[in-house]
Amino acid sequence: MSNAAVIDALKAALPPKSWSEDPGEIAPHLTDWRGRERGETPILLKPASTEEVAKAVGICAAHGAAILPQGGNTGLVAGSTPKGEILLSLKRMNAIRAIDPLNDSLVAEAGAILETVQGAAAQANRLFPLSLGSQGSATIGGLISTNAGGVHVLRYGMMRDLVLGIEAVLPDGSVWNGLTVLRKDNTGYDLKQLFIGAEGTLGVVTAAALKLFPRPASAAVAIAGLDSAGAAVQLLALMKAETGGGVAAFELIPRSGLDMVLKHVPGARAPLAGSYPWHVLIEVTTGQADAAAPMLQAALEKGAEAGLIADAALAQNQAQAADFWKLRETIPEGEKAHGRAAKHDVSVPVSKMAEFIDRASAEVEAMLPEALIVAFGHVGDGNVHFNVSAKSPGAGEDFIRACEKATRHVYDLVGEYGGSISAEHGIGTLKRGELSARKPQDVALMRAIKQALDPKNIMNPRMVL
Ligand SMILES: Cc1cc2nc3c(=O)[nH]c(=O)nc-3n(C[C@H](O)[C@H](O)[C@H](O)COP(=O)(O)OP(=O)(O)OC[C@H]3O[C@@H](n4cnc5c(N)ncnc54)[C@H](O)[C@@H]3O)c2cc1C
Repeated sequence: MSNAAVIDALKAALPPKSWSEDPGEIAPHLTDWRGRERGETPILLKPASTEEVAKAVGICAAHGAAILPQGGNTGLVAGSTPKGEILLSLKRMNAIRAIDPLNDSLVAEAGAILETVQGAAAQANRLFPLSLGSQGSATIGGLISTNAGGVHVLRYGMMRDLVLGIEAVLPDGSVWNGLTVLRKDNTGYDLKQLFIGAEGTLGVVTAAALKLFPRPASAAVAIAGLDSAGAAVQLLALMKAETGGGVAAFELIPRSGLDMVLKHVPGARAPLAGSYPWHVLIEVTTGQADAAAPMLQAALEKGAEAGLIADAALAQNQAQAADFWKLRETIPEGEKAHGRAAKHDVSVPVSKMAEFIDRASAEVEAMLPEALIVAFGHVGDGNVHFNVSAKSPGAGEDFIRACEKATRHVYDLVGEYGGSISAEHGIGTLKRGELSARKPQDVALMRAIKQALDPKNIMNPRMVL
């Protein structure tokens, strides 16, 4: 059946507002956040309801036409750009369907933006804790499909831990209603987990029930300067013990990354008077009013006494806390302005993190004298964004090619430490080859699941497997 037949069928079945062939409207959907991917699609579908998604997927299934679902298009693994697939944007499906404060749950449609969900939870005096740099654009459906992490995983877990139920349109166009808000439901396999982290390969997520938490009564943020990555890992354990589990975020910032931010991000200011090779941003939250700052201050003093902290600054107000967070959140922006970098979103056991960073840095620098390592990220999750920039600004595609051997070496080392080649960004098309080379048995099992749910291979056929 021709492409034209499926397009005609879609246009006939959906209201005119629910599709577009306007190149101007489609264009922003055809390039990724990093500006590297350029794609194409015969049509942009913009369904307003689960029924419309089901109708569209059913038509595509009947014609064997491939579909790429898209949320906020902020994914970082070349998985959100269509290359000829029918593009299905969930952005119009952005309603908060329900909030139940007594059940600590919220039901949102797939296109709801994370910041909107956080705001809706706050209005009900609750917290939805997922928090990441793209929260102003990333959608619930995309965050579920990539099993996003972010800065509060240490305390609240990844998206996988925050989902109670899912509604999805399956690859045959039928609707699976798994939208439970229950906390206990042992009725066989936990099917929702199949869709979390599936990157759109098993169906289209149309809505989700999310877990809410009590809003902390007080929060405090500090930045500490450290002499080694090892001190960061030790300090995390000390901070957890001293605050009774109050650490909500613990983020590693290397000198190299901070320098890029200070140089390229307007308004960024050095947090400490001295210069240190490593920093950590620490956020402590508590259920008691005014308790977080004294608790964090006391824990910092313990860290200094233990010889783990060289210097530290406790944010004196919310504006300063926001400035500190900005230094961490804008590292990708600073890196982008510096030039191209080979990026590795990897994880190892927390206890091995410093050893991994030190060894990988030394070995990559030995292989590539031009390399400038920017290793930042989530110490509490053993997740380091081990990025290899060039010492000289303005590096381009040549530098990325020169990094290929170093990339394989980083992934080999990750394997040696029992780690993962994708901690939180997913596989997309970028890491597909690495995944099948390094985890063939897992990929075979995933293929069996894919075959059972999507025998025609129409859902995101280029991703993951
Ligand atoms: C500045 C910045 C900071 C970031 N920080 C973090 C971070 O700290 N931690 C982290 O984990 N990630 C981070 N990310 C990446 C993160 O994965 C994405 O921001 C987010 O999870 C993707 O959501 P999205 O709505 O943009 O999805 P998209 O990019 O549109 O899609 C991502 C994937 O999910 C699929 N998909 C989208 N919606 C659906 C749906 N409804 N049903 C089925 N499949 C769907 C797509 O086909 C694609 O394969 C960051 C990204 C940026 C740009």
